[in-house]
Amino acid sequence: MDETNDNIKPENEELNEENQGIEHEDAKIYEYFEAEIESNKPNFTKTLTNLYELTKIDRELAEIDEEKGDLPFRIESLKEKIAVLEKHLEEDKTKLKNFEAEEKTLLKENKGLDEKTSKYDESKYKAKSNKEYDEITKQIDAMLESIQKNEARIKELKGYQENLVKGILEMSRNFEELKNELKDDISHLNSLNKQFEEEEVDLTEKRKTILENLDENLMSLYERINGSMKGEATAIVRKGNCSGCYNSVPPQREIEIRMAENVFTCQSCGRILIDETLIANL
Ligand SMILES: [Zn+2]
Repeated sequence: MDETNDNIKPENEELNEENQGIEHEDAKIYEYFEAEIESNKPNFTKTLTNLYELTKIDRELAEIDEEKGDLPFRIESLKEKIAVLEKHLEEDKTKLKNFEAEEKTLLKENKGLDEKTSKYDESKYKAKSNKEYDEITKQIDAMLESIQKNEARIKELKGYQENLVKGILEMSRNFEELKNELKDDISHLNSLNKQFEEEEVDLTEKRKTILENLDENLMSLYERINGSMKGEATAIVRKGNCSGCYNSVPPQREIEIRMAENVFTCQSCGRILIDETLIANL
């Protein structure tokens, strides 16, 4: 028995090896065709799971943005306000300087006219004729008129200056307040940036890697949706509903989404739809 078996064994083994060989070849061919068939069928499973991962990253980035709140926006608007105020301040300071200079000139002019009037007044009595007297009087009158005109203008200028000084004081106070506010906001944002820096760099890197592997059209589709709904560009289809807007997905479309035959967006909210079974093992 043992002997016989031993004799048969090699034969059988040989036979088996041969058979196995054929089977192996057949299997290879079969697998090859299967693979061919598979690759001909559009399958977006990998793309969709990538988009899902991308959404998770963007949600984390959105949360960081939320932590920072409206600080970046506030900083920008404070900078604008400060720039506008600074311009006004400079303009008003220049105006004030010009008014002061004009006042100084007029005061000097009036001082000269005063002196001249006194002199003329004295010479009036030394006039040799009525004509000369009248002439001097006329000149004195003209000078007095100039003095009066100048005084009126000086009074006007003083009013302007007073208002400008008040305005400049108020604006300077406001300017300082805004600058301090800006300083506080910047330092607050800086500390938040520092806190999230590593996380943001890490998330941005991961984001870049996924985006690089995406088709250009899909990438722009995703970015467009993410632009208006940061961290919510994809939605899960669960029990026939879009998890983003809770509207129902037509049954036929639901099947196509489950088969990952293409990238579909929600008809109601525009989010990219992913069947829940596709991300179940993530
Ligand atoms: Zn939706």
